[in-house]
Amino acid sequence: MSDTVYHCDLCHLPVEVNGFTIQSSQGEKRFCCEGCKGIYLMLHGDGEDNQATQPPDHTTRGRTTR
Ligand SMILES: [Zn+2]
Repeated sequence: MSDTVYHCDLCHLPVEVNGFTIQSSQGEKRFCCEGCKGIYLMLHGDGEDNQATQPPDHTTRGRTTR
């Protein structure tokens, strides 16, 4: 085990649980939870598979975090 502490790339809290990691074009990104990973992917669109699940633009306003 190393004592390197990673911080969530979204909320910057220390990452205590491994497994919420993605490989982006900018390198490895680590997140503290599934929610942060999902939000990051939604914001940046990184990832291996680009899912065609984005809603039309006129429905994206009015919702911030879940
Ligand atoms: Zn987080």
